[in-house]
Amino acid sequence: MCLFCKLVNGEIPSNKVLEDDNFIAFHDINPIAPIHLLIIPKVHVEKFQDVQPEMMAQMTAFIQEVTKTMELDKSGYRLVTNNGEDGGQEVPHLHFHLLGGTKLKWTHLHDEDPKASM
Ligand code: AMP
Repeated sequence: MCLFCKLVNGEIPSNKVLEDDNFIAFHDINPIAPIHLLIIPKVHVEKFQDVQPEMMAQMTAFIQEVTKTMELDKSGYRLVTNNGEDGGQEVPHLHFHLLGGTKLKWTHLHDEDPKASM
């Protein structure tokens, strides 16, 4: 069973912010912003590439609710999903990183010169 499935069934603890029948939002254990939550479906979906559009419609509404709970809806935030190996996904259970609570920087994301391949 994957790490986040264990978190869903309570085998490992989590610091939850919001939960409904289908999704959970909880604090990332290694935050990279003043607010850094993870939002996951309760059922196991490995990655964004595999998710059904119907689930994403429900998940979108849940994420919007989480942004209101955290009072990020007006100030702004960043929503990120790492998909697969090149995307840097470490936990193979679909999750969105919700980042906010400060003015976030946007920086280069790899070590090579971005202009080298142009
Ligand atoms: P990713 O690299 O997109 O797969 O992100 C996985 C994220 O899960 C990382 O930001 C980790 O800090 C976070 N993480 C791993 N284990 C836990 C846990 N038990 N509770 C909360 N966050 C976790």
